[in-house]
Amino acid sequence: MMAIQSKRRAVVDTSLCVACGACMEVCPRGAITVWKGSYSVVDDALCIGCGLCAKECPASVIRVEARP
Ligand code: SF4
Ligand code: SF4
Repeated sequence: MMAIQSKRRAVVDTSLCVACGACMEVCPRGAITVWKGSYSVVDDALCIGCGLCAKECPASVIRVEARP
């Protein structure tokens, strides 16, 4: 998938992620991978900052914030 520039992006607190995979399933860009079953990682180049993953996360460990 092509990279799209966006002003915002999702950031996961990996120390609190429970690796349920809910964010990965809901992401319309396929930007999230659950890494070795332990925490999720967002591909910064693919994320468009839509916030769907943050809404879905049962542990509330995803924030959507402005890109630096
Ligand atoms: S903010 Fe949207 S595009 Fe970015 S990782 Fe979450 S669901 Fe995917
Ligand atoms: S939905 Fe939340 S707890 Fe579940 S894998 Fe994604 S970031 Fe981790």
